[in-house]
Amino acid sequence: MRCPYCELDGPRDTVHGHLVETHGDAVETWTIGSGRMRYRIACPRCGAAHEARVKPRGQDPAFLDTFAKEIRMVAFDMLINHIHAEHGSEI
Ligand SMILES: [Zn+2]
Ligand SMILES: [Zn+2]
Repeated sequence: MRCPYCELDGPRDTVHGHLVETHGDAVETWTIGSGRMRYRIACPRCGAAHEARVKPRGQDPAFLDTFAKEIRMVAFDMLINHIHAEHGSEI
């Protein structure tokens, strides 16, 4: 599949890892109240946004930084699923 943000082409796992490393800024993360976190990813092709809660792991205020990569992995997994479902696998 093709990276939705640039020209990179490769197997899903390769594109997924590339998204996490290169396009991590596309994932918005924020906290609500005491330690509840949410992330949001918008499809660059149609603008559809996916938003979900991330399971908190304690009250560590550094949670966002510590788990930013993990959250990105989850968020981009959602994005790839969306792209396959809505835009076809060969993009
Ligand atoms: Zn890319
Ligand atoms: Zn889309």
